[in-house]
Amino acid sequence: MPTGTARAARMSKKEMEKYRRLLHEKKNALTAELAKTRDAEEETTEEATQDIADKAVSSYTREFLYSLTDAERSTLLQIDEALARIEEATYGSCQNCGLPMSEKRLNAVPWAPHCVDCQELAEKGLLEA
Ligand SMILES: [Zn+2]
Repeated sequence: MPTGTARAARMSKKEMEKYRRLLHEKKNALTAELAKTRDAEEETTEEATQDIADKAVSSYTREFLYSLTDAERSTLLQIDEALARIEEATYGSCQNCGLPMSEKRLNAVPWAPHCVDCQELAEKGLLEA
């Protein structure tokens, strides 16, 4: 952890609220879209999957998560993590190097855990976690 608590106050409460709203909107949109896809799939495969239908309903949440692609799942996770950082008032700093992230980046990808430089490292597999 290269950062102290001093940096936490960098972003104003008003700004945090803006990003919180953006994150919730994205999360709702993503969840709704996925639920819709799932419903459509269920309609077409209803007959074939009748046997396991009871089981599927009881583990709906887990099934739902399994039905997500890796990208969708990780976006949802990152959104939750970003919302948690807003709660902790640490939102807006890169999770790797601790530097403040640009407004441009946060507006484009409000749930991004890393600044552009660190994201590049992460995509090359050079970042841990
Ligand atoms: Zn960074």
